[in-house]
Amino acid sequence: MGAGSDCVFCRIASGAAAAEIVRQDEDIVAFRDINPKAPTHILLIPRRHLPSVNDVEPGDAEVVGKLFLVAKAVAVAEGLDRRGYRLVVNTGADAGQSVHHLHMHLLGGRSLRWPPG
Ligand code: AMP
Repeated sequence: MGAGSDCVFCRIASGAAAAEIVRQDEDIVAFRDINPKAPTHILLIPRRHLPSVNDVEPGDAEVVGKLFLVAKAVAVAEGLDRRGYRLVVNTGADAGQSVHHLHMHLLGGRSLRWPPG
């Protein structure tokens, strides 16, 4: 699915669209979700366009691993590491994936129910 200017998360990664960025490096950008579902709701994306988990290949292992490392650093920075938080990667229609650029949700700051909807 469309990379570059067609993709809102590619535009955020390049700086062409605004977002409240909390952390970024050469591979990963973390920014606050525009429609937060918890007191802390941050999205983590690879800069490079990958539509979903279905498109992840062995060569993407390093950047996918970095998503977790950056998520951990953001959780610490947000004061969530001791109380807990949830990482979610919606994939495809049944999971409700609405933006087709791989992203990890970091949710925290309240007690989260299980299972999700
Ligand atoms: P998903 O349903 O897993 O595809 O999640 C997509 C998420 O992206 C939703 O939680 C949206 O609120 C969020 N989102 C969509 N557009 C933007 C944007 N421009 N800035 C920040 N978050 C966004």
